[in-house]
This record gives sequence, C-alpha cells and structure tokens, in this order.
Amino acid sequence: MALIVQKYGGTSVGSIERIANVARRIKSWHDQGHRLCVIVSAMSGVTDQLISQAKQLNPHPNDREMDSLLSTGEQVTISLLAIALHAIGVPAESFTGARAGILTDGTHTKARIRNISPERVLASLQNGNVGIIAGFQGQNDEGYITTLGRGGSDLSAIAMAAALKADVCQIYTDVDGVYTTDPRIVPTAKKIPVLSYDEMLEMASLGSKVMQARSVEFAKKFNVPFEVRSSLTETEGTLVKSETPDMESVVVRGVSLDRKQAKITITGVPDKPGFASRLFRALADAAINVDMIVQNISAAGVTDISFTVGSDELDKARRAAQPVITTLGATGMLAQEGIAKLSIVGIGMKSHSGVAAKMFESLAAAGVNIQMISTSEIKVSVIIEESLADQAVRAVHDAFGLSA
Ligand code: ASP
Ligand code: MG
Repeated sequence: MALIVQKYGGTSVGSIERIANVARRIKSWHDQGHRLCVIVSAMSGVTDQLISQAKQLNPHPNDREMDSLLSTGEQVTISLLAIALHAIGVPAESFTGARAGILTDGTHTKARIRNISPERVLASLQNGNVGIIAGFQGQNDEGYITTLGRGGSDLSAIAMAAALKADVCQIYTDVDGVYTTDPRIVPTAKKIPVLSYDEMLEMASLGSKVMQARSVEFAKKFNVPFEVRSSLTETEGTLVKSETPDMESVVVRGVSLDRKQAKITITGVPDKPGFASRLFRALADAAINVDMIVQNISAAGVTDISFTVGSDELDKARRAAQPVITTLGATGMLAQEGIAKLSIVGIGMKSHSGVAAKMFESLAAAGVNIQMISTSEIKVSVIIEESLADQAVRAVHDAFGLSA
C-alpha cells in the first residue's frame, strides 16, 4: 500500500462535473488501499478573475491583500472536493495551506516554502481520510497567508510529497504528458516518456507551461520523481526523474516557446563600474525575474544594456529601473512587447556539437530574425518576433527530426 500524492490543476477541477470526476478517480485509488494526499488548484479561470477584479479597483493592489484574495480560489476547491468525496462514501478532510503546516517566507505573491510540518495531515491519513490540501498557499511566521507564485500548486504538491516521503507523486493536468513541442503548433509532436529534472526544468521555465519551474527545481533538489499525466484519460504520462547515462543519446529533446516575454533596452549607459549592479539590484529588490541580459560593446564611453522579463512584469520593471537611469544618467529606456523566446533543450547537447548552428540555419531558412541569443549546457534560446513564433517552432522542430 503506497502513500500517493496527487495534484489536480485548474482545468481538472474546472467545473462541478470535473470535481465529481476527480472524486471518482480518487475513490478508485483509495479503494485499492492506498493512502492519498491530494493537492488542488483553484477552478480554472478563478485566479485570473480575482486578479482582474482587484485591478479594476486599484491598478497596483497591495501584495499581502492579493495573497489573501487569491488564496480563496483553492479554498473553494478543497471543500467542494471533500464534499464530493463524502457523497460517494470516501472519508476526506480538507486543509488550508496553513493547517497543512506549510510555512513560507514573507515574500507575498511569490513566497518560498521554508518548512512543512505535516503532522496534522499524516494523522488524518492515518485515520483513513483522504487529505485534500489547498495548493499555491502557505503562511508566513506572522500568520499571514502567502501564495507561491502563479502555478504554485505544483510546488505545493512536490513539497508535500517530499515532506510526507510519498512513494509516488502524480501531477494531473489537462495534457497527458510533456511533448516535444506544443501539439497545437506542431500536430505531429510526440509525447516524451522520460525526462531528466534538468530538461524538465528548462522546458518548464522556457514556456512549456506544463509545470511551474520552481516546483521542478524543488523536485530536483529533494529528488522527488514525479509523473505528469492527464486527469481525463488513463494513458501513461511523462516520468521526470534524475538523469541516467542513456538519456544523452537524444541531442534535442524538445522545442519550447514562451510568448509572454518583453524586452527593455537602456540606452546611453555610462560605461563605468556600477551601472549594471545598481540596475539589477533595483530589479532584484522589486522581486523581478530577469532572464536574458545583453550588453553591447561601448562606443564613445556609452553602451546599451538589454534584458528580458516576463511581459506581466514589464510595468514593474520599468518603474524599478527608472530611478537608476535618472540618478546615473543613462539616456533612455525602450520597452518592447510582442517578442517570444524559442528554445531547444536536451542533455545530449553536452556531448554533441553543431547544435546551435543547426538551429540558426533552420531559423534563417524560415526567414526568422534572431534578436538575442543565450545558451546553457543543455539549451539554446533565441528571442524572436512573436508573430513569427509558430513558423519558427515548426522549422526548428523539423530540423531536429522530432516529429512522430
Ligand atoms: N491557482 C493558482 C494559479 O492560477 C495556482 C495554480 O493553479 O497552481 O496560478
Ligand atoms: Mg495551474
């Protein structure tokens, strides 16, 4: 008899019928004698709707109030799911993040989990209950509700699996696994049966929005293997686990795309020590995730610095950068939306050459201009114009022979 952690995302619990369906699935695992701890997201659309309501009242709502607002979405789902389980004779108890013992730091809207005290949940499982836990939320040491960043229920699930020493961790979602690229763009994309944490991490942070990137980092750090699978079918999903030598035989595992990118260019930056440090310190203090950074060779004592951020943080980033520009005397700031990041990922790149050249050739042949490039050991990313993103993905996916 196993201890199984399952996570159901927003689409899987997106309607009353779907919640009833999830309850039936849980029942069948429970009937086999397994102990189950289930983490749920808010019903699909609910978190977005709460954000939009807040922004109608105030364009810059306070982060702490946002946490207390957004955490309500998951609380609706845990109770509905417990109620649905009771209706079919399955004992179940719901837990807010706080009651489940999830303690975080105080970074509202993007808190990090510090510690989990799972005793209450364990006791409930011991008594035969299915434990149902609100994903995406915890509390800080002052008792304020915190949230873990968009998509944070994944992190709740992985962290709970680690804290409970679960035998299995299953992430149920609306896709049946991780694909070589988005099948809506390339219908012949294939499901990937096994991935390393690092590849999954790159795929997740690069925009294959199957899972929240931080949750994959956490899984890697605590070695929590997990399976991504569909809540609507019975098919096997994608298993994500630590790297094995045979995984390197595939050079490029997948092509991912992040459309929600924006670029900021600071022009006329005085080329002397201190500017970059002040700029990126200001952005860090505003808790903005900066992705690619490019600084040009300077001419006549001034240079340009460009960097990318998520498009939802563009506004915040501009506000954080402005005082530095004014104080240190750069000439200006340009913000550009409508760009996308396309990346190829594979641990096989470590031992193969010519991978980037092949990617750039396929983009050139497709008439796609490259604006920025960055690489790591297991990925190559380029910034391109968003309107060309689909054709670019098709070209690169084809070039590496990833289609079925
Ligand atoms: N409900 C939250 C969100 O939409 C957390 C999650 O779904 O994982 O981001
Ligand atoms: Mg989600």
